[in-house]
Order: sequence, then structure tokens, then C-alpha cells
Amino acid sequence: MTNSEGIVNINAVDRVVIVGGGTAGWMAAAALSRYFDNGRRKIVLVESDAIGTVGVGEATIPPIASFNAMLDINENDFLRATRGTFKLGIEFVNWGRLGDRYFHPFGTYGQDLHGIKFHQLFLREAARGGPRSIADFSMSTAAAAAGRFGRPAPGAQSLVSQIAYAFHFDAGLYASFLRKMAEKQGTRRREGRIVRVHRNAENGDVTGVELDGGEVVKGDLFLDCSGFRGLLIEEALETGYEEWSRWLPMDRALAMPTANTRSPPPFTRATAHGAGWQWRIPLQHRTGNGHVFCSAYTNADDAETTLRDHAEGEPLADPRLLRFVTGMRRKAWNHNVVSLGLSAGFIEPLESTSIHLIQNGIARLFALFPEREISPLERDEYNRGMRELYEDVRDFIILHYKATQRNDTPFWRYVREMDVPESLTRKMALWRLHGRIFRENAELFSEPSWIAVMLGQNVWPDRYDPIADTLDEHRVASAMAQMREAYHRTAQGLPTQEEFLRQAGAWH
Ligand code: FAD
Repeated sequence: MTNSEGIVNINAVDRVVIVGGGTAGWMAAAALSRYFDNGRRKIVLVESDAIGTVGVGEATIPPIASFNAMLDINENDFLRATRGTFKLGIEFVNWGRLGDRYFHPFGTYGQDLHGIKFHQLFLREAARGGPRSIADFSMSTAAAAAGRFGRPAPGAQSLVSQIAYAFHFDAGLYASFLRKMAEKQGTRRREGRIVRVHRNAENGDVTGVELDGGEVVKGDLFLDCSGFRGLLIEEALETGYEEWSRWLPMDRALAMPTANTRSPPPFTRATAHGAGWQWRIPLQHRTGNGHVFCSAYTNADDAETTLRDHAEGEPLADPRLLRFVTGMRRKAWNHNVVSLGLSAGFIEPLESTSIHLIQNGIARLFALFPEREISPLERDEYNRGMRELYEDVRDFIILHYKATQRNDTPFWRYVREMDVPESLTRKMALWRLHGRIFRENAELFSEPSWIAVMLGQNVWPDRYDPIADTLDEHRVASAMAQMREAYHRTAQGLPTQEEFLRQAGAWH
């Protein structure tokens, strides 16, 4: 019921129903039951084993560590349970030009000198004929190249403290891990297929979901974690979907696990092909591979051949085809339904952002959690914040395609020549002038990330920031030489990632 101030009255948000038990559903259940299951409020999760999950989300970005920390998850226990490995960044192969290779690391580049940004000093040195690979000045890149890992100790002086990392893990095992935790914290799980959604005839809010056996699970607030179909947010509420395929035309993926052929390297690899790209995600017990492609430029049979040709190791299963449309729900939160995960939208997995979008959605919901009623103002705030985040991620992903020099296939010619959102056009133009990156609001990807992709794909600015000229060039050149040497030496002194995991008791 909506009153004269526009407040939607639902006596109290006592029953939260989570629809779906994929990564999104169980992440939400673990987090909500920890903080909001207070005796009065109940958390119920409904899922159908018969429907199954997407479950290929295997690579993440560094903020996942704070989600796990919020749940008091011990990192070594988590890695052991999910057969996880560390991820120091992504190696991109064949993106700028065929034969190119660059690394997008987590963490920073070099050290600023006298308040002047390191990358500006690097650009000046490069213009003077100095080093042209910024990758030589990153601790995470040096460790990744050596196949080694070290956990940064907070506040430590060592260069290892510059390492930033995320994880690769088996998403199905992560969901099981979180399920145990959520159930222990009081989440009740209902198994069953939802066949009908009940709505309030007056205000249109969802009141319950009916299972195939006839039981109706009632709720005050619903989290739609039902995957691409968006059982509540789209099928019931018809919220609408904003499609971004003109900029991100990928619409299929073939995923196939293979046996490990060697000790897992601590990074993801993304290799560009003729009409898409292929991921390689090393776990402790297997390697995840997948070919993300655009069906307008290639077909599934050819895509499968490419996938098999480029996957190392024995296939452990046949490739599984997934279809998607890049974009986002027009409103992530509509009526009393908050969509999380694939039901909220999908941006292809090039920078491993989907699980982060779930995490961020949960954090925002916490910040705006309705106590007695849903305020349209707070709901709008949630939607505004989520849109901003999705659009930031979208722009960063588009950059990888737009900033290519490839013209060897119709697909690459299309993405190279396409118009891109104005927000990205502006960012690229500002970079080209003086190598400056301007991040807006609470943008997810940091300055080093933008720099990594720009320089990695041969987009050099016309000039560096003139402020870099204020430092003595010989001093800068010598400081940079020392940094490069120190990163290399420090990396060589670290254990291999497998040694590290075994020593930490994190190897399964
Ligand atoms: P799903 O896994 O689809 O789960 C849906 C749930 O809803 C299931 O439990 C199902 O039983 C339930 N359900 C649906 N309909 C009904 C019904 N009628 N009745 C009862 N229950 C129902 N993310 C990353 O962060 N990193 C990656 O590297 C990555 N790679 C990806 C690669 C590809 C090709 C794709 C498609 C996605 C990738 N993702 C990645 C995204 C990631 O897989 C998802 O974001 C994540 O798994 C969340 O999925 P989900 O929980 O929203 O949906």
C-alpha cells in the first residue's frame, strides 16, 4: 500500500525470501543471516536442484577479500574448501595487436616521487628513450611472471606489501561453503521449483512464491537471485532490460574444464580470438577454460574448435554452452524485489566483475536495508548507485575492444570502429592528451587498471604531464632502475604459488 508521502507500507520487513541458490543466492543468504536474522526476522532461500546454477564464475577481483572478511571467513580455509588459487591479475594475449601480450595487475605501479605520479615519470622516461614497459614496475606483475606469491603484511616496509590479489575458485564449492555458513546462522532452505509468483492486487508488490507442490513461501522483501531469467524482477514485474550489445556484442560462451598440466599460475589469462576471447583460470585441481564469442561473427562449432585448440590439458567434460545478452535491468530494485547476480544484469566476464557486482549489491542493500517500510527514496538511491557501478564496469570492458589496432577479422574491425559511450570517449581523449586518468564517483577500477589497459594496448598519450619535468631526469632514471631491479629480486625470493598454498595449509 502506498500512502500520501509515497511510502510503501509493508508492516515490517520480517521475512526475507531469497529466490535462487547460485553464487548470488548463497552470498546474500550468508551475509543477511549473519546481520539481519535477529530472531524476529527470518531468511528463507528457495532453490531448485532440478534447475541448477550457472556456476562458472571462477575469477574475482580484490574486494572479494573484504566480503569474506565481513563473514569472518579464514582465507586459508576458504581456499582449501573451494580448491582456490591466488590471482594477481590478468594476462591479455592478442588484444592490442596479434602477438601482443600485456598484464593487468592488481595493485600499484612503482612509487610516486615527491608527490608526482609514478606513471607520469614513466611516461617521461619512455619519451626520452627509457623503458617502455610499465609492467617492469609492478610487484604483482613481477610475482605473476615468476609464478610466485607472497601475502602482503599490513604496514610492512617490504615490496611484498604492494601485492594486491584476488582469487580463482570453484563457484559451486564456494556456494556450498556459504550455504553451510548461512544454514548454521539460521537461513532456512526450501527445495522446490517456483511455478507462480503471488502479488498484492493493490500495490503490485510480490507477496509470495508458489512451489510446484502447492506451498506458498511468503515474504516482505524478496531477493531475486534466479539467474538470467529474472523470475521475479522480469517475469513477474516486467522491469525491463537495457541492452548494451552494440558496444559489447558477445552473446555466447562455451565453458570447458581441463586437467592441470602443471602447477597453477597465479593469474588469469584472456586470449583474444577472431570473434571473441578465451579465459584460462587455474584452480588447484583443474583449469577452467571458456570461449566467449559473438554469434553474429562465428558459430558454436567453430567456437568449440577454437576452444579445444587453445585449451591445455585433457578435457574433463564436454563444453557447456551459455547464452547471454550484455546489459542491466532498468531497475535493480523494483517494488519489494531486489535483483542480485545474473537476474540484475550481465557484463561479460573479461575483468571477472560479476561476483563483485553481487557483493556490491549486498553491501548497498545493507546500507539501505528497510526496517519497517520501503522508502522510494532509498530504493532510488540503490538503483542510482548500482547503475553507476554497472556503467563504470561497462566502460572499462568496452575499452579493451575499442583500444585495439586489430583489423584481421570483421569482428575486430567492428569493435575498433564502433561509437562508444560518451563517458568512455571523454576518458580516452583526456588520456591521449597528457596521460591523465580522471575517475568519477566511487569508480571500481583504479588508475593503474586504466593505465595497464591503455599502455598494454598501445594507446600512448601525446604528451606526459608537464609536472613530471620538475624532477631531475637522472635521479628519476636511477630511481626507476632501482625499483625495477627490486621488484624482480623480491619476486624471485617468494615461494611458488603452490608452495605458498601448501605451507599455509590452503592446498586441498
Ligand atoms: P545462477 O547460478 O543461474 O543461479 C540461479 C538459481 O536460481 C539456481 O539456484 C536455480 O535453482 C534457481 N532458480 C531459477 N529458477 C527457479 C525456479 N523456477 N524455482 C526455483 N529456483 C529457481 N563471475 C565472476 O565473478 N567471475 C567470472 O570469471 C565469471 N565468469 C562467468 C562466465 C560466464 C560465461 C558466465 C555466464 C558468467 C560468469 N560469471 C563470472 C558470472 C557468475 O557465474 C554469476 O554471476 C554467478 O554465478 C551468479 O549467478 P546467479 O547466482 O545469479 O545465477
